[in-house]
Amino acid sequence: MTESVRKCVGCGKSDSRDALERFVMMEDTVIFDMRNKAPGRGAHVHANPACLDRAIQSGFAKSFRSKVQLKDDFSSQFVGSIFQRLKEAIRVSFRSGDLVFGGDLVASAMKNNKVGLLVLATDSGESVARKFEANADRKSILSFGGIPGAVLGAVLGKDFISVLGISANKAERIHQDLENLQKMGFWDTDLNPVSNMGIGIANGEEQILEEIVGREYDRT
Ligand SMILES: [Zn+2]
Repeated sequence: MTESVRKCVGCGKSDSRDALERFVMMEDTVIFDMRNKAPGRGAHVHANPACLDRAIQSGFAKSFRSKVQLKDDFSSQFVGSIFQRLKEAIRVSFRSGDLVFGGDLVASAMKNNKVGLLVLATDSGESVARKFEANADRKSILSFGGIPGAVLGAVLGKDFISVLGISANKAERIHQDLENLQKMGFWDTDLNPVSNMGIGIANGEEQILEEIVGREYDRT
């Protein structure tokens, strides 16, 4: 965790660098620095519609001190990239043993204090949700409950996942992306896990992941 502070070019307020998303300018075009490592000067923005709108209206131009170009689907690309980053983080966590899903496994991981973030599907069922939420509350672990079970499942190649636990070392970053996508209204849109957003997982999943991780600006 870095302690450094940056100013949002939307609302103008300072915040920790980790709470802001970074954009860079490449050949007059503003690009979302999804992995926070593109060279050059960056402009930072809170991932919410109000800050992003203001950045688009004037904040980026002021920050980069020049006319800027934005693609027509700038906002939806931005949100799509956050979702892509989230999917990768979830898949990587699963591979590294930092993620469990399903009621029994998550319950036992929580019991052993191995869960830093609890993710509950919006449609996980009231009694399941209540039980896990109470547990998370008691143990003071992060929780998020805004994602449909079919979408959560599709990220890991399953039909439906009602509850998922992520270890503490991966918890904050994933929690933030889940929250940011909520602020951007992403979970409210009509998410069809099979046909939309490319979250269906085909056979060559490894390859797809490699491709995604290896390619910086594949959509710009
Ligand atoms: Zn802001």
